[in-house]
Amino acid sequence: MGNVCKICGCTDDNACMTDEGPCSWVMSDLCSACAVIFHPGEHNLGKCELIIPKECRCCANLEEDKKAESLGYKNYWRCTEGRYDPVMPDGSTVPGSFAWSGVSRPNKAVARAQKHCPFFRVHPRYLPPAPKQTQVDTKEVEKLWKSGEGMMKDPIKRQEVD
Ligand code: SF4
Ligand SMILES: [Zn+2]
Ligand SMILES: [Zn+2]
Repeated sequence: MGNVCKICGCTDDNACMTDEGPCSWVMSDLCSACAVIFHPGEHNLGKCELIIPKECRCCANLEEDKKAESLGYKNYWRCTEGRYDPVMPDGSTVPGSFAWSGVSRPNKAVARAQKHCPFFRVHPRYLPPAPKQTQVDTKEVEKLWKSGEGMMKDPIKRQEVD
């Protein structure tokens, strides 16, 4: 049997179509449409190339479901994009969550949600810390503001004058 993508189920005979053309294999069971590849220095897990599968468990939109935990369930997670939320007959949605085991070993519902998920975002735990923002010297800004030097005048007042 040939390769099958563990996330979308594509095969050699039925490849995903991406902007770059048909998908290719990045691992024997993972296609390029279902993976994000980071080169050394672009991630925080050492000096290797890192392949992140576009799975819920690697996604920044997965959050612990505190409400389920407060009801006594353990390891329940929610997709903040609402992809697990069941849709009611009137079109409204009910917040839905999945147990961790369902997230890391996809059952049918999770696999369906993951498949080519347009909302997938790599979880920040894989990424290097964002560069620190340059500290703004608020006192200095205040001084400039009061003196009117180098700062825009109050835009509302200006409009009134115009
Ligand atoms: S369904 Fe999509 S957006 Fe939601 S956690 Fe899974 S991959 Fe992320
Ligand atoms: Zn795939
Ligand atoms: Zn594919």
